[in-house]
Amino acid sequence: MKLDAKALRYMSSEEFRVLTAVEMGSKNHEVVPTALIANIAQLRHGGSHKLVGDLAKNKLIARVQNAKYDGYRLTYGGYDYLALKTFVKRGSVYSVGNQIGVGKESDIYLVADDDDNQLVLKLQRLGRVSFRTIKSKRDYLQKRKSASWMYMSRLAAMKEFAFMKVLYENGFPVPEPVDLSRHCVVMELIDAFPLRQVDEVADPGKLYSELMSLIVRLAQHGLIHGDFNEFNILIKSNGVPILIDFPQMVSTSHPNAEYYFNRDVECIRTFFRRRFGYESVLYPKFKLDVNREFDLDVQVAASGFSKKMQDELEAYQEEIKEHEDEDDSDQESESDEESQDETSIPQVAPKTEEELAEERLKNLRLGNTEPIVSESEE
Ligand code: ADP
Ligand code: MG
Repeated sequence: MKLDAKALRYMSSEEFRVLTAVEMGSKNHEVVPTALIANIAQLRHGGSHKLVGDLAKNKLIARVQNAKYDGYRLTYGGYDYLALKTFVKRGSVYSVGNQIGVGKESDIYLVADDDDNQLVLKLQRLGRVSFRTIKSKRDYLQKRKSASWMYMSRLAAMKEFAFMKVLYENGFPVPEPVDLSRHCVVMELIDAFPLRQVDEVADPGKLYSELMSLIVRLAQHGLIHGDFNEFNILIKSNGVPILIDFPQMVSTSHPNAEYYFNRDVECIRTFFRRRFGYESVLYPKFKLDVNREFDLDVQVAASGFSKKMQDELEAYQEEIKEHEDEDDSDQESESDEESQDETSIPQVAPKTEEELAEERLKNLRLGNTEPIVSESEE
């Protein structure tokens, strides 16, 4: 999903008002009836009709006709726009540059703030795997089903921001969180390479024990990263590792905590064996090495990312995992079925992590950013 910053520059305040009306209407309606949009936007002379058409043409909203009534829903493009607009208003983003990463469920862009500081914008893209293909016996989506890509992406961003903030404030090596809106997080740009791309280190043993200590220190604070691998560890030029990517973190009180902890440890052991030929008999064990001393998991919950939200997101993530485990042909036929309803949600073929890393390197060197807001708007 391309983030089209240029298109964002030329939106009138009336269009913005209509777009906002669609977002507000989405809180209670899967498909927001056209009349409701007009009603919320409160434009004189029924002016919203043409604007709705324009927004749809620019793919910020999408017309849905197969419902009981005609109406519109927000697209990722529209949701991106709303989030960016909020960041611009707060001064946390002024311009958008190159894409430096695309995961299965996120897009990463280089951005700059008002003072020209380079930052990273991470947009969550949950729902690239279509929701109706998920055999949902559980009720976590409830009546949200079709709007859920929006809700789930927002939950993932909220979670990422909440964990990053608590970790950063407690001295963990993570990017500084800067801002949060909807499905987007703005954070510090780390000038570093993913461990995946590091072929040699001066002292593998030292890095190994630093990473293992980090896993243990997290657990002593009540947390498990859950995806502690060579893609989510960035190595600065001075050799210092920085941890990123937090939407799957779990508490050490989680019923499967030991499993997640050991999996994180195993990831590092395997990587060091394969990449550096480094093996150690020393590695942390959940039962032996983890004595919880602090409750950052509780702190996160208190920060506004509630237990209920955590559970909803986890249920989603588990279903996605089950879905991924199914065979591919099965998935394809199911997503065909979907395409009608989910037109604006891109079903991209994910690139390999290596391709992404390559791209990221290229892009990082072309660090130009373009202003989002036109002069007249400022
Ligand atoms: P995903 O959830 O898609 O895996 P990540 O948060 O792991 O997303 O980010 C994907 C890639 O983008 C990372 O591997 C890294 O190369 C780059 N990246 C993400 N955040 C930052 C950051 N703060 N600074 C520099 N690069 C980053
Ligand atoms: Mg990652």
